[in-house]
Amino acid sequence: MNDYDVIVVGAGNAALAAAVSAKENGAGRVVVLEKAPREMRGGNTHWSGGVFRFAFDDPREIEPLVPNAAEEIEDFYDGIAPYPYADFHGDLMRVTGGRTDPVLSDILVRNSKETVFWMNEVGRIPMEPALSLSAVRHGNKVVWARGLVVRAKHEGVGLSRSWFATAESMGVEIRYGSAVRSLVQDDDGSISGVRMRDDNGMHTLTAKAVILACGGFEANVQMRTQHIGPNIGQAKVRGTPHNQGDGLRMAMDAGAMPWGQWSGCHATPISADWGEFAPRELTDRSNRLSYVYGVMLNRQGKRFVDEGEDGALFTYAKFGRAILAQPGAKAWQIFDSQVLHLLEARYGTSEPIVADTLEDLLELLDIEDKAEALRTLKAYNAAARGADEGYDPARKDGLATNGELDPPKTNWALRLDKPPFHAYSATGGITFTFGGLKVTENAQVVGTDWRPIPGLFCCGEMVGGLFYDNYPAGTGLVSGATFGRIAGRSAAAASSS
Ligand SMILES: Cc1cc2nc3c(=O)[nH]c(=O)nc-3n(C[C@H](O)[C@H](O)[C@H](O)COP(=O)(O)OP(=O)(O)OC[C@H]3O[C@@H](n4cnc5c(N)ncnc54)[C@H](O)[C@@H]3O)c2cc1C
Repeated sequence: MNDYDVIVVGAGNAALAAAVSAKENGAGRVVVLEKAPREMRGGNTHWSGGVFRFAFDDPREIEPLVPNAAEEIEDFYDGIAPYPYADFHGDLMRVTGGRTDPVLSDILVRNSKETVFWMNEVGRIPMEPALSLSAVRHGNKVVWARGLVVRAKHEGVGLSRSWFATAESMGVEIRYGSAVRSLVQDDDGSISGVRMRDDNGMHTLTAKAVILACGGFEANVQMRTQHIGPNIGQAKVRGTPHNQGDGLRMAMDAGAMPWGQWSGCHATPISADWGEFAPRELTDRSNRLSYVYGVMLNRQGKRFVDEGEDGALFTYAKFGRAILAQPGAKAWQIFDSQVLHLLEARYGTSEPIVADTLEDLLELLDIEDKAEALRTLKAYNAAARGADEGYDPARKDGLATNGELDPPKTNWALRLDKPPFHAYSATGGITFTFGGLKVTENAQVVGTDWRPIPGLFCCGEMVGGLFYDNYPAGTGLVSGATFGRIAGRSAAAASSS
């Protein structure tokens, strides 16, 4: 007799969605093996902002998730635009340059709303409006980023805590400090268990189905450098130190096919003052995403991206990498006083550098070529516009720099002319990696012989093919829960066959 019916490797959002789904679909003995000790449990999910992107036709459809929102936020539904399937899928296609896997992205978007409702109802995850992240106040109105209105209450910390509570209440066994090293593969090619290490040494655990949900390789410097390159090799890690690519390696040892963009990752502008790994208690407070309202200079005094190319939630996942490519992997974000009220609350975890003139500000910054920096800011101001020319922080306002400015700023190009001026440091922090495994519609892992590997399923960051070069904010958790739910269902069926 097997030790378990279903073994789930990892204990983040995808793993716990899979474990809950396996139970819901009739699996008897389900175990979650978490490499981290209990006090570090939950993977990147714990660090996350807990925001969910999903498709809906009418804003009123989200009411069951946030029943008190209309009482707490004035004119709540008036500030929300519909976000139908075509818009979510269109955003995914646009930011990935049309490369997102057609089958997987269709499953993700088509199931996105139902998945979030399932997380709320079956996963018992309380939710709230994502006010501090996705809403911008414009005049008297709160305007919401499209498709990104709801998050888990208490963000990733609450999401992770709720998943553990629900899984435990359904009888899922959680084993902490349990690092899975390899898969047990039978002569017929099927997966029948895992080899794992805990405080008592190495063990073999058997099951009819194994679900890998143990994250990407973002915390592994060797794999980052090898697959993505030296700049990303030196990135700071925004989430858990435990996602070391173990699951990807063990699956490929068992014949799994790598899939998706192994040279790609999600890396965002974060404060340069943070350490190599983000502190667990400060979760995602390292992010510095209000650059759309200012300009970014590198240490040679040059701008290097169009800060207003799109809303920050569609550029943040690639601009971290752009900063890592700059000298010293560092940049400065510069704002004037007319936009300070728009800076995300997360900026409050650093002290800004402040001065009354741009010249004085540059003197205080770690910039090698200050003369060039001043020329850059003057050229920007000469090409930028005034607030009375149609500036609107709540939408892509088309207020672009004019002339030959290179790179241009295509939205929110306000002149920096209202002192005092504020500067915040920024570097690139890696969030997760895009390379993963090829899976079927049932979340079963496919081998390099193009045949599914019996008994092996995968979900979460380990699924390859969804993201290329860039990523629309709030998609990771919904993708993890969608494919986790499918993997749990498939594993339950496999365990009873
Ligand atoms: C700072 C930050 C903010 C984010 N904000 C958002 C957001 O607001 N919305 C959104 O959609 N996404 C967000 N993301 C992305 C999101 O967190 C991830 O997409 C998602 O959490 C991944 O879930 P997962 O279950 O695949 O992996 P994880 O949650 O990382 O879980 C992986 C698990 O596997 C375990 N593990 C690793 N190796 C082994 C092994 N060998 N044996 C056993 N266990 C192992 C780890 O300890 C961990 O428990 C954010 C990420 C970060 C870092």
